Amino acid sequence: MPSIAYTVVITSTTILAAMTIKPTYSIHTLELGPMENFIYVVEDHHTKRAAIVDPAWDVTEILKLTSLHGLNVTDILLSHCHHDHINGVEDVLLKHDAQIHLMKAENEFWHPGFIKPRLLTGGEIIKLGKTDIHVLHTPGHSKGSACFKIGNQLITGDTMFVYGCGHCRLGGSDPEVLFATLQKLKHEIPADTIILPGHNYAPAHPNSSMAEQIKGNPFLHFDNAYDFTKYRTKIHDQIRSDPYDAISADEMAEHCRQYQL
Ligand SMILES: [Zn+2]
Repeated sequence: MPSIAYTVVITSTTILAAMTIKPTYSIHTLELGPMENFIYVVEDHHTKRAAIVDPAWDVTEILKLTSLHGLNVTDILLSHCHHDHINGVEDVLLKHDAQIHLMKAENEFWHPGFIKPRLLTGGEIIKLGKTDIHVLHTPGHSKGSACFKIGNQLITGDTMFVYGCGHCRLGGSDPEVLFATLQKLKHEIPADTIILPGHNYAPAHPNSSMAEQIKGNPFLHFDNAYDFTKYRTKIHDQIRSDPYDAISADEMAEHCRQYQL
């Protein structure tokens, strides 16, 4: 299937005490490759520095976007090391001397062989000019999955999709850990945060708020790891495929009765 490339510019506006603060950044979005991957380019307005999140599939297209905006690619952020998220890293490095950032746990599990990566454990703030990128360790889909919070936007990789979440089929994944991670996001991330997922599995909603996800993401309706694990590993992929849409708590309760969860 040919790659689809388009750009959506998301500009964040923060309202603080009735005063509008001009954001320091923009996030540009590309959808590339046969698996509907979203590649995000975080642009710092003051320095024109750019961080590419999960460079993959079509680096020419990614670098066309950065040069169109006059950006200097100084950083590469990896949500995790599955092939469909990192297969463009080497090609970016051929053109730009960028610093790679990824979780220590992910580097140790996959040994991707990056030269001098900055290894993270969660809680760090990556400074991209005047833009702060907050690092969250969100294991479950893989050992060292990460989310990146910038202003009121959360880049979630494969930890959370719009109305879905990452599978637990590969080494390093653990559905019980993913349950705990999603519960933590549900309870700790503000409801008005915009979720920017790693794949476009809900094309009617390429991004969404945390409030909408709490209402309609089936994986956020569970209150225990046992049922979540059964649904994630044995039931979900048999009864549901993308494009994903919302599932209410009532519909989910019906599913649970049907599948004896
Ligand atoms: Zn993945």
